[in-house]
Amino acid sequence: MLDEKLEPIYAEVLRRNPGEDEFHQAVREVLESLGAVIAKHPGYADNALIERICEPERQIIFRVPWVTDTGEVQINRGFRVQFNSVLGPYKGGLRFHPSVMLGTVKFLGFEQVFKNALTGMPIGGGKGGSDFDPKGRSNGEIMRFCQSFMTELSRHLGEHTDVPAGDIGVGRRELGYMFGQYKRMSNRYESGVLTGKGLTWGGSRVRTEATGYGAVFFVERALATRKQGFEGKKVLVSGSGNVAIYTIEKIHQLGGRVIACSDSSGYVVDNAGIDLALLKDIKETKRGRIGDYAIARGTGTTFVPGGRLWDVPADIAMPSATQNELNGQDARTLVKNGVIAVGEGANMPSTPEAVRVFQDAGIIFAPGKAANAGGVATSALEMQQNASRDSWSFEVTEQKLATIMKDIHDRCAEVADEYGSPGNYVLGANVAGFIRVADAMDALGVI
Ligand code: GLU
Repeated sequence: MLDEKLEPIYAEVLRRNPGEDEFHQAVREVLESLGAVIAKHPGYADNALIERICEPERQIIFRVPWVTDTGEVQINRGFRVQFNSVLGPYKGGLRFHPSVMLGTVKFLGFEQVFKNALTGMPIGGGKGGSDFDPKGRSNGEIMRFCQSFMTELSRHLGEHTDVPAGDIGVGRRELGYMFGQYKRMSNRYESGVLTGKGLTWGGSRVRTEATGYGAVFFVERALATRKQGFEGKKVLVSGSGNVAIYTIEKIHQLGGRVIACSDSSGYVVDNAGIDLALLKDIKETKRGRIGDYAIARGTGTTFVPGGRLWDVPADIAMPSATQNELNGQDARTLVKNGVIAVGEGANMPSTPEAVRVFQDAGIIFAPGKAANAGGVATSALEMQQNASRDSWSFEVTEQKLATIMKDIHDRCAEVADEYGSPGNYVLGANVAGFIRVADAMDALGVI
């Protein structure tokens, strides 16, 4: 429910951003949590502070022309939404996927503002991307696209201005082509302009693993509040990209067993536990499909084309693919099958109805903007290493990530308690993130 003071703010967001359903969904969820804040501290509703937080500082849309291997000219659309820079340079990934529209980037940018605030690190929030579809494109096509995309985007970036990273469809290869083009255009080796870089050109150890590892650290800490752990638990991890792969890796290290994962073509069930080396080979090296995993793994593994992974009975679910991939019906199935915790590795993977089902059932629900913040937090660690021209070991960096996730968990739990909803990590994350951003905005005047 929305507080009556917040109704007109939401109505104005709807009016000003027509058709951007995902953005509306992300804003509504935060505004629902803020009712508790303005009830306790009405001053946060003053000076159009909440209205300002809902309006991006800058939205950039540009043409990305490029040429295919067969000589055809293609046009894609590029975006960067620079949402809020009160805590630091805009920070957030780039997504290349045919579904990307302005509203997608705006929802992701909005989430990123709160997520980044929660990390406690000096990073603002932004997001970007393109409706470019990397699927089936050659290496040369990917490179030419990335170079064209960066040719335009570069004028808006800088280590003190805006620092992108990867997201769906953008990994180390794409970041490499973009960094190369930025370096040519600026004539500067400005390592801090992008994160998620390769280790030989300014990257940080653990950045690749960070989002997945961090999500597992968060859920581990949440489970511990109920005297539980991953040991011996059966887990579902949707997706099979970077976030899913390193979520699976950490769960296996902690003694859990991931029995299913997926991609847009369907899901596989492997009761012996997903063979991670095989999954990495198929998805990371060969850039293949999840059905190939079942074929290579052989008996005991089933591939279900186009099915719902959430139908598989398990103890814990980690949605790690994309937004709104888990609906109310899926949530009811998971609860009926006895799930005890849901941790979001992706951004906003559960629909609002699904979140309500989990909360009503009293199970642990860790929302993406808290649980998946380890990725961007490690990006901030990468920025620190770049600024000091330093490079830390895997152990040191992973330990810092673990501490950051513990702090995020504890802060969300503490704020949820303080605002009268113990165990409600959605409220805790939204309110804790909001307070940090709002206090800084208040200090900096009407900006
Ligand atoms: N795309 C990631 C996210 O959703 C990482 C962003 C970053 O490292 O800047 O948080």
